[in-house]
Amino acid sequence: MGAAGTILLFDIDGTLAVTQGAGTRAMGRVFREVFGIEDALRQVDFAGRSDNWIVATALEQAGREATPAAIGEFQDAYIPALREELEGGSRLLPGVVELLDALAEQPVLLGLGTGNFRRAAEAKLGYLGIWERFVDGGFGDDAANRTELLAAALPRLRPLAAPDAEVVVIGDTRHDISAARGIGARVLAVQTGFARPGDLVAADQLVSDLADTRAVVRLLLPES
Ligand SMILES: [Mg+2]
Repeated sequence: MGAAGTILLFDIDGTLAVTQGAGTRAMGRVFREVFGIEDALRQVDFAGRSDNWIVATALEQAGREATPAAIGEFQDAYIPALREELEGGSRLLPGVVELLDALAEQPVLLGLGTGNFRRAAEAKLGYLGIWERFVDGGFGDDAANRTELLAAALPRLRPLAAPDAEVVVIGDTRHDISAARGIGARVLAVQTGFARPGDLVAADQLVSDLADTRAVVRLLLPES
């Protein structure tokens, strides 16, 4: 197999997996138990946002400063809380394992483009058995802004791919689409997550889920 001609950046929540609010519950616990803030996330519209953005926004709404030290303290408490909350019904979405198996046979690099902190992404996908499938990515600790965190994936992945490799983002919200545009990537949107009607019309391709492996591979890799 030659150098990878395509770099795929997968979102996690609502795209690869659903965790039944595990992250939200774990964050709520940390805000309450470590920071003494009740209902920290009540006013935060967090679908498709980065963990950095969510934590900073919630801290600021509570009148706290979102310093790197505060974010670090938050993460240290959040990861173990998240591991506990993942036991409550997290699962991969239909077709994900089959799709990753099929893509392993193709000249692609499998990456992540997710608002989860890197350690949170590892906790979620490790729990679900697919963390090792991904080479690297852009994560919530790279930037609060989703375009910037996707951009952070590129210097990690581009050196491993063909010089002219195309980048494709796979995601479930309008934030995935706008961030993909920000890095000049193509977008496959999937309706298994948190989009509202009309949110995904700007995607290059739209599928209801990832269950039809052959069709999805063909959309991701038209040359294959
Ligand atoms: Mg998502």
